[in-house]
Amino acid sequence: MSAAPPRHALVIGAGLAGAAVSVALARRGWHVALLDAAAGPAQGASALPVGMLSPHVTRAPTPLSLLSERGVATTRAELQRLVPQGQGWQACEVDNLGHDPGRWPAAMVRPAALVKAWLNEAQTLGALTTRWHTPVYRLVPTPSGWQALDDEGRVLAHAPAVVVAAAFNSHRLLVATSNLLPDDALPLRPVKGQMSLGALHGKPRAERPQRDNGVYVPLYEDEGLPPEWPARLWAMGSTYERGENSTHLSDAAHERNAVSLEALCPAAAQDLRDGMHQGSLKGWAQVRCASLDRLPLLGAVPDIEALHAHMAEAGARRGRVPVADTPRHPGLYVLSALGSRGITLAAWCASRLAAMMDAEPASEEDEDLLRALDPARFAWKLARRQQRD
Ligand SMILES: Cc1cc2nc3c(=O)[nH]c(=O)nc-3n(C[C@H](O)[C@H](O)[C@H](O)COP(=O)(O)OP(=O)(O)OC[C@H]3O[C@@H](n4cnc5c(N)ncnc54)[C@H](O)[C@@H]3O)c2cc1C
Repeated sequence: MSAAPPRHALVIGAGLAGAAVSVALARRGWHVALLDAAAGPAQGASALPVGMLSPHVTRAPTPLSLLSERGVATTRAELQRLVPQGQGWQACEVDNLGHDPGRWPAAMVRPAALVKAWLNEAQTLGALTTRWHTPVYRLVPTPSGWQALDDEGRVLAHAPAVVVAAAFNSHRLLVATSNLLPDDALPLRPVKGQMSLGALHGKPRAERPQRDNGVYVPLYEDEGLPPEWPARLWAMGSTYERGENSTHLSDAAHERNAVSLEALCPAAAQDLRDGMHQGSLKGWAQVRCASLDRLPLLGAVPDIEALHAHMAEAGARRGRVPVADTPRHPGLYVLSALGSRGITLAAWCASRLAAMMDAEPASEEDEDLLRALDPARFAWKLARRQQRD
């Protein structure tokens, strides 16, 4: 923990991303004001009843496989330290039946438990204030930092640094209302997901979770599950509906889950369909946020006008501007586009973002990976294309 005078940040969004950033900053001695439109923490995609913490294994390493390797280790350590097993997570293995098959160590996780544990830790450090029912409409730069405004232009909060962790709404905030970036410079997409689940009576249909086209969880037990979910449940999910930005439940999505489940465990697929016909099947739907290249956005927000000027100047000297040298909006950061892997990625990404905000250089082994996640990558390509045309 740092003994330096406190630095101040606003964090917008109290899901996995925003909670992980809040605690990572609090551990470094920052003071954080966390603002969320919802009535409490983890009410968006992070309200997921149960999801998998599992590696993304590929034959040759890719940015996503390297990222998920680091992410699994970091999140696992956070869970072990902060959340008792059976009250928000359970260690397990998962059978990967698709390409790159194998059995991997994994965990079944209810993200809200981890989000709450992180916020409790930050509050115990005396480093966090939370404000619910507080939708941020616009961000405005000032000489001393940033103001967060509501839709009537009233100042909700201000601080020298802001982290936008508002999932797909990060796009609206940075592009549409604050006008800080052109649309193509922040290519975020909504991807609706629906999970099918039900109470488990009797023995589970499989020994451990199975993954192919979706993940089948044969048994998840959690004392902290909210009353709307059975305390002992099975789950199958989730659909991947690109461009869909709604949370309505549909039988068609349940049926898609049944088809995917048939390939993993036909008896469980029959249970799902029986539950649908009898009216006992439950479902949960929310919107993931994915970027164009399916990697998260982690880092300082690019300043596209300054980038154009910088490129023109470098072009006149026949020089080139590397992505890392993209000018940034001072004090403005983003952590978004965690896609289908927020449980795996939030903690590691947030710890790296907090280090960046303290101007700590990245380790040599993380440098390439962080470059792949730089939110300036799209703005840089856009500016280079425009410069060539
Ligand atoms: C069906 C489904 C299954 C999934 N399964 C898995 C899984 O098995 N494993 C896994 O790792 N991940 C899984 N995920 C993905 C995981 O849930 C997400 O990656 C993660 O929750 C994203 O966290 P986040 O904090 O970025 O977004 P969110 O949790 O959506 O949080 C964003 C927050 O920002 C707030 N907000 C938005 N706009 C504003 C504003 N203008 N002002 C203030 N606040 C605002 C919202 O209220 C919300 O609280 C699944 C997702 C879905 C939908």
